[in-house]
Amino acid sequence: MAQTESEGSDVRLEGTLQASMARSAAIEQDLPAHPGNYRMLTGDRPTGELHIGHYFGSLLNRVRLQDTGVQTWVLIADYQVITDRDGVGPIRERVMSAVATYLAMGIDPARSTIFTHSAVPALNQLMLPFLSVVTDAELRRNPTVKSEMEDSGRPLSGLLLTYPVHQAADILFCKANVVPVGKDQLPHLEIARVIARRFDERYGRAVPDHPVFPSPEALLSAAPNILGTDGTKMSKSKGNTIEIGMDADQTAKLVKRAVTDSERHITYDPVNRPEVSNLVLLAALCLGRDPQDIADQIGDGGAGALKRMVTEALNETLAPVRARRTELMAAPDHLREVLRQGNERANERADATLAQVRQAMQMVY
Ligand code: ATP
Ligand code: MG
Repeated sequence: MAQTESEGSDVRLEGTLQASMARSAAIEQDLPAHPGNYRMLTGDRPTGELHIGHYFGSLLNRVRLQDTGVQTWVLIADYQVITDRDGVGPIRERVMSAVATYLAMGIDPARSTIFTHSAVPALNQLMLPFLSVVTDAELRRNPTVKSEMEDSGRPLSGLLLTYPVHQAADILFCKANVVPVGKDQLPHLEIARVIARRFDERYGRAVPDHPVFPSPEALLSAAPNILGTDGTKMSKSKGNTIEIGMDADQTAKLVKRAVTDSERHITYDPVNRPEVSNLVLLAALCLGRDPQDIADQIGDGGAGALKRMVTEALNETLAPVRARRTELMAAPDHLREVLRQGNERANERADATLAQVRQAMQMVY
């Protein structure tokens, strides 16, 4: 019985993935013609330093969408740091470092809003009505929450259980209708859509004919899952990262240490040779070339030649961002001011949305 249920759920997830990919492709096609119809929310947890997985997997994409003219909200998700750990860690340094990396990458504070959860009370208040429209069972069967709990090796905290609801508040407070994510985030997007719809059904509208919240869609990145130096997904929490802010020597040392396999001849075969293929891919992404072409060029040169190429390509690609980042890190007052202004804008938006929520719920006295 349990097996049938889980098979049913796998089938449903697969169907969801295909439907989401189709909707994501349709949005990508429409975006350049109608950027004004889209609002994007993206973000990172300040659990460590941003790395090259972020660079290729999400940051480049955010800047591209911003530059297309899509209204862009970038959240530094500080409350989500404590979903799966005991303390906040060196959070102030990490938040400032993230702001510097965003700016160095080309996120423009004149067009985009960079903000933190903790500074936007009205966003967090949306949790209350949102929690009322989801059930305990719906939250418990979220596969991403389950796997994050297992990874943390700790009991499930109330905040981790309800974190998809908090994420719905992040997305819906600014009425974002596109959210660039990896496929592991699709269940969260589904919860956000369910919350938007049930809020409308149960509590009504602030203005006739206009639901308070849009139905947000995933924008699935074509960029792959970048692996870390140990051959598993590169993650801030895992100590396997090459940070965007590292210098050329540190980068060289880490690339040298990256695990490969025992076969000398280099090929591009992500399924059977994930570690070697990840290095090939990094070189290809940096150089704007086809991975197959890179593998053919290195051939019998082996892992040593491949790593030299990756190191050089990474260092060259990242050099301008690193230089701007170093300058920005030397101007902490400027970084704080960018965040202060972003938080001010996020508060204006969140206050306006909360006013509509209270109106819809007839809680205006
Ligand atoms: P943590 O270990 O704290 O979970 P993380 O390194 O996984 O940190 P997140 O803040 O969870 O980073 O991820 C932010 C976004 O960056 C994700 O939604 C994902 O799209 C992207 N991302 C993170 N790691 C990678 C990676 N290795 N390859 C590609 N994209 C990635
Ligand atoms: Mg993560």
